[in-house]
Amino acid sequence: MAGEKPEPQEFSGFSGSFALIGRKLVTTSRQNSLIMAEKVIFFDIDGTLLNTGGAGQRAMERALNEEFRIEFPFQGVLTAGRTDRGITEEILERHSFDNTPENRTRFRDAYLDQLPGSLQDSPGLLLPRIRELLEQLATHSHVTLSLLTGNYAEGAWIKLRHYELDHFFQFGGFGDHNAHRNDVAQAAIAAASAQLNRTVDGADAMVIGDTPADIQCAHAIGAKCVAVATGVYSSSELEPHNPDHLFEDFADTDQVVNRILAVL
Ligand SMILES: [Mg+2]
Repeated sequence: MAGEKPEPQEFSGFSGSFALIGRKLVTTSRQNSLIMAEKVIFFDIDGTLLNTGGAGQRAMERALNEEFRIEFPFQGVLTAGRTDRGITEEILERHSFDNTPENRTRFRDAYLDQLPGSLQDSPGLLLPRIRELLEQLATHSHVTLSLLTGNYAEGAWIKLRHYELDHFFQFGGFGDHNAHRNDVAQAAIAAASAQLNRTVDGADAMVIGDTPADIQCAHAIGAKCVAVATGVYSSSELEPHNPDHLFEDFADTDQVVNRILAVL
């Protein structure tokens, strides 16, 4: 699929084999005690890293209008924290279209065609000091940055490339195949295990996101969670869902990195 990241290169030698993933060297030998990437931080995208200014939803609206003649598809539809698969299924069913693989693919392809142009037309933005946060976290060799998002995989990479953040990430869990975010979280853990050539479980992971659904999916996989109130939910709306830490935003990079590493 276009937009997917290349497979890691495998190397053999010394006492074990190694996978070169991005710029990180990860041991794959159980006997080797040198494990440089011990923790995985899964980032949500919309409302956490960036705000497309509605570009994603407008691309979906155009796709639904052109392909299915559906007008105002998002009236009464919650989108924050949900997966693209789940949103698509709800809208198709609300408008009496069969929720079939053919209709879902027809919508997805039309949306992905619309998305780059919609992002170009949008006054979207990176959220406060996100680039600095990712740059600092990427310097810690025991941390691997990853994605846990409701976006279609290709939509996620299109958005990240538009904002020049794609190089920070190599893999993740995406919203193509699961209507529920908890299932995306399980897929993200499986992707991490496959990419890092070791068993990754929730105790090795943190989810960072902007909605109650992000916090709930972290709990579902036994991961730590840092929530941030830069999306549509306020800190007082997020706090009752019991994240391990909650930020208004990520503007104070040093404090945020220290707290993330302490919680992790
Ligand atoms: Mg979000």
